[in-house]
Amino acid sequence: MSSPFDPLLDRAHRHASAFLDDLPQRFVGARAGRGEMMAALDAPLPQQGEDPAAVLDLLAVQSGRGASGCAAPRYFGFVIGGSLPVALAADWLVSTWDQNAGIHVISPLAAALEEIAARWLLELFDLPRESGVGFVTGCQMAHFTCLAAARHGVLRRAGWDVEADGLNGAPRIHVVASREAHVTVEVALRYLGLGMRALVQVESDDQGRMQDQRLRELLPTLQGPVIVCAQAGNVNTGAFDRLRGIAAAAHAHGAWLHVDGAFGLWARASGEEAVRGLADGIELADSWATDAHKWLNVPYDSGVAIVRDAGDHRDAMTSSAAYLIQTGGAERDAVDWVPEFSRRARGIPVYAALRALGRDGVADLVDRCCARARQFAGLLSAEAGVTILADVVLNQVLVRFGDDDELTRAVVAGIQADGTCWASGTTWHGLAAMRISVSNWATSEDDVAVSADAMLRVFRSLREA
Ligand SMILES: *Cc1c(COP(=O)(O)O)cnc(C)c1O
Repeated sequence: MSSPFDPLLDRAHRHASAFLDDLPQRFVGARAGRGEMMAALDAPLPQQGEDPAAVLDLLAVQSGRGASGCAAPRYFGFVIGGSLPVALAADWLVSTWDQNAGIHVISPLAAALEEIAARWLLELFDLPRESGVGFVTGCQMAHFTCLAAARHGVLRRAGWDVEADGLNGAPRIHVVASREAHVTVEVALRYLGLGMRALVQVESDDQGRMQDQRLRELLPTLQGPVIVCAQAGNVNTGAFDRLRGIAAAAHAHGAWLHVDGAFGLWARASGEEAVRGLADGIELADSWATDAHKWLNVPYDSGVAIVRDAGDHRDAMTSSAAYLIQTGGAERDAVDWVPEFSRRARGIPVYAALRALGRDGVADLVDRCCARARQFAGLLSAEAGVTILADVVLNQVLVRFGDDDELTRAVVAGIQADGTCWASGTTWHGLAAMRISVSNWATSEDDVAVSADAMLRVFRSLREA
């Protein structure tokens, strides 16, 4: 007798294979919008259940139209990243095992795998080995976790216990970030009750780096606890704040330094000195937020929060209740390091990816993406009327067409409608631009050549129209 799972898992496997086989050459954007999706999927809540196989088939059929190819090798929108085959396969196992990975007693397997994955990440990034590490849903929640630890740490040093007494009557915390800080930093400040008005913004330069001289001038004017948020990898340009100098300035003032390294922290794993050099001094920070679903290419969702002072990290996150069985020994209870209570073992695909790639494989993944970004910049800028707006230092390219906002936006819309590849638009220092992010292991030189051709084809036809 086969288990009741087998027929459905076989079916899911066939659907998954079909989706993955189609992925490299499919129309890259989503083909359907809400109207078509609702028409195909909406129904009154069924009174009697339906055939599970038919339900799976419905999902699969609609994934062809309503899912975008954001895991595809020619998807260059936002900063997305595909899935390594081993990471996807490990993620299937995570779902199969259905472990509540919140506490060790429920899953010694998940706890051990996450403990090891955490250590490997600290080694890969060469960050202080005593740091606390939490596996969260993404960089947003990594910011939340790290900044909760920062809030705890700076107030503890000011003689205030924020976990016990909250923020009412607490010393006022100033948070400093550059004008180019990612929006998720602000959101984390809101969640933490610090509020967006606690944020003091520092001007950034033409590449999107914090003007650290401004920071040095600003810090002495701030009274009380300070958290500085720096950035390793600007979401538009890939530029890095000058972290060594920022760390020195922050620490001279007694401030906590948090770094947004959503994708930029992976520069630490590069085999190229110039790329690693971008992150010079990053190890001096007090906390780091990054994603695994972006540049490590594990499936959504997967982020990592790292905090140098594991005590501050744990104090800000830990929970205890009479019925919980928490460990007193070396065993890891994930609830001590993340905001979630019950949780998915997100660290397992990270473990699988790191074990299968090794240091060399991660370096190769990072460096190939950077090389493809430079290839894009070379191919596009060879065309008269196409400008690359910022230095291509990592995996991000900003492109402007015809030095014209309207034309540039039309090229972005045109390439999305063309379907050969997918890129999104942005505004960079007042100018419309197309963003290209190369963050997928599967993106080949050929993919970039074909995509650049398509972009130029769209540009020429619009310019002539
Ligand atoms: C993507 C990104 C974030 C947010 O990460 P999520 O994983 O979407 O929560 C934060 N900062 C930067 C620089 C990013 O690129």
